[in-house]
Amino acid sequence: MATEQYEVVVVGGGASGLTAGMFAARRGYKTIVISQDVGGQAATTPDIENYPGIEFIDGLDLMKKFKTQGEKYGMQFRFDTVTALEPQPDGTYIIKGATGEVATQVVILAFGLSHRHLNVPGEEKLNGKGLLYCSICEPHFYQDRKVIVVGGGSSAVQAATTLSHLAKDVTVINMGEHLTAEAITVQRMTQRPNIHVVVNAQTQEVLGDDHVTALSILHTDTKQVEDIPAEVIFVEIGYMAKAGWVKDILETDPRGQIKIGPNCETSRPGVFAAGDVTTITFKQVVISAGEGAKAALEADQYLLAKSGKRGGRIDWGVKKT
Ligand SMILES: Cc1cc2nc3c(=O)[nH]c(=O)nc-3n(C[C@H](O)[C@H](O)[C@H](O)COP(=O)(O)OP(=O)(O)OC[C@H]3O[C@@H](n4cnc5c(N)ncnc54)[C@H](O)[C@@H]3O)c2cc1C
Repeated sequence: MATEQYEVVVVGGGASGLTAGMFAARRGYKTIVISQDVGGQAATTPDIENYPGIEFIDGLDLMKKFKTQGEKYGMQFRFDTVTALEPQPDGTYIIKGATGEVATQVVILAFGLSHRHLNVPGEEKLNGKGLLYCSICEPHFYQDRKVIVVGGGSSAVQAATTLSHLAKDVTVINMGEHLTAEAITVQRMTQRPNIHVVVNAQTQEVLGDDHVTALSILHTDTKQVEDIPAEVIFVEIGYMAKAGWVKDILETDPRGQIKIGPNCETSRPGVFAAGDVTTITFKQVVISAGEGAKAALEADQYLLAKSGKRGGRIDWGVKKT
């Protein structure tokens, strides 16, 4: 089967990728967004209160609006996991995924951040068998169950509060002495009677054969080990850029984030990057959306220059450090 040709391929369907896709499609480019899911991180939060013009919205609803708006202008969307970006001798690119490949003039990488793992025994074996990374995705998993949330940041505290409305009880396991979540988020959590917080606790092992039965922790102050019974464990210890598949062809920083210039250009002409996966300091929905728009507009300049039409610059590429 012939490889399908695009002018713009966006990898990632979160706030940055869906915005990039919409902007590229509105410029008339044949554009596809390839993503593992719709909405990325924003889709995992039930309340977004800081997106300008919208006082309150469920994150998934907001992301669905992004997608619908892009599709209105011809943006295509495909579910897949991209595994390779291969530069071609003529300056174009092949993007390979689990279900096939596409060819493109321009690539916009917007694949954001992925859940950080605990890296303890039992985690891999019980992943999906009571050990989960998305607290709002599968409510039936925790209805009337004993639940543990590992983490003490805003995501963990927000997750614990939400889960406590359906779960039997929720235990929050925090590595340090203090929770690092925003004060207002912690305050909302403390109003829930069925949440118990354990501090100074280091996760040792996820226990269970076919399904999670307990989490083994080390109390770092007393050096005692305790197995806390649980039917469901949510890991909410933050996110990291999983950019391993592009690190040999693009410049990344020590945290794996893709280095970009002021207009989302990467170290390789024709490849742009936007949102949380990049070295931008602040990670927020509105910022990712803005970065996605910038990346698409810069890609437009690149394509115009390449085709000899008006506009365009000739200095794409972040300077090597
Ligand atoms: C729980 C939580 C609450 C938050 N609350 C707020 C808030 O209230 N307000 C706010 O402004 N920000 C909030 N944020 C931050 C905000 O959600 C992010 O900064 C923003 O959504 C990032 O968008 P992004 O498109 O850059 O990346 P992401 O949202 O991470 O999207 C990346 C996309 O790429 C896809 N992907 C990854 N790898 C591949 C691959 N190899 N192949 C194909 N697809 C891939 C993913 O499936 C995903 O769709 C919150 C984040 C979390 C986790």
